[in-house]
Amino acid sequence: MLFDTHCHLQFSAYKDDADEVYKKCANRGMLLNIVGSQRDTSVRAIEYAEKYPNAYATIGLHPIHLISAEVDEEEIQFKSREEEFDYNTYKKLAEHDKVIAIGECGLELYHLPEGMNAEEAIRIQSVAFVEQYKLAQEMNLPMVIHVRDAHRQMIDLIKTLPGIRGVVHCYTGNWDFAQEYLSLGLYLGFTGVITFPPKKTDPKSQTDLLEAVEKCPMERILIETDAPYLAPQAYRGERCEPWMVEEVAKKIAEIKGLSVDETITQSTENARRLFTRLKP
Ligand SMILES: [Zn+2]
Ligand SMILES: [Zn+2]
Repeated sequence: MLFDTHCHLQFSAYKDDADEVYKKCANRGMLLNIVGSQRDTSVRAIEYAEKYPNAYATIGLHPIHLISAEVDEEEIQFKSREEEFDYNTYKKLAEHDKVIAIGECGLELYHLPEGMNAEEAIRIQSVAFVEQYKLAQEMNLPMVIHVRDAHRQMIDLIKTLPGIRGVVHCYTGNWDFAQEYLSLGLYLGFTGVITFPPKKTDPKSQTDLLEAVEKCPMERILIETDAPYLAPQAYRGERCEPWMVEEVAKKIAEIKGLSVDETITQSTENARRLFTRLKP
């Protein structure tokens, strides 16, 4: 059973056809984890999880919504809306039985508001991350962790948080950082980025990423799309949809010398081990 462990089907990119996109996924017998990025998208993730039998929700506050900034994700541009993490609001959401994780939350130095330095951003984001860690611990849920240009700071912070469970989603780092996350008990989520050709300006980053895929033990790998972003190479330029996660499985299978079926079975088994609230 194919499982897109990280998508945003509740985002406005699907405002006209979320039902059809879900149907395409359900016809393939897929599972979906619909991930919130702030309060309204977390509430909507739960609404979708109620409406769609094979969909689950993750609720939390993304670091780009802590500080308002101009954001440009592929062709989608928006101004992030600032929000403070309110523990009780999110705790109420987390009590829903289709909520399987807390997130996405984490550290992000890629989208920095003008005039803010990295230390200040990391300080603000760390406070919100630790709050969400506390909520995850209280609710006995894993975390969906977002990291962009801040692996060192993220690993150092996670080391101070005992018992943390979760996945570092859309992992695009190298094997060195990957090993540190793995030694902290975390899973790595890979997206369509692993199917991209190397960047002309920075071919090494893709080689490093593929090395991480190759060396990461199969039982710690999750697959995801991060749809509507990051359509795999076969669909580059299109809006990404959760069923495209099969391309990620294909690439992992190729790198690891496994069949696509084995890759899908193993990664879904991993996801079920991590997301303990998922119904069998
Ligand atoms: Zn993310
Ligand atoms: Zn995401």
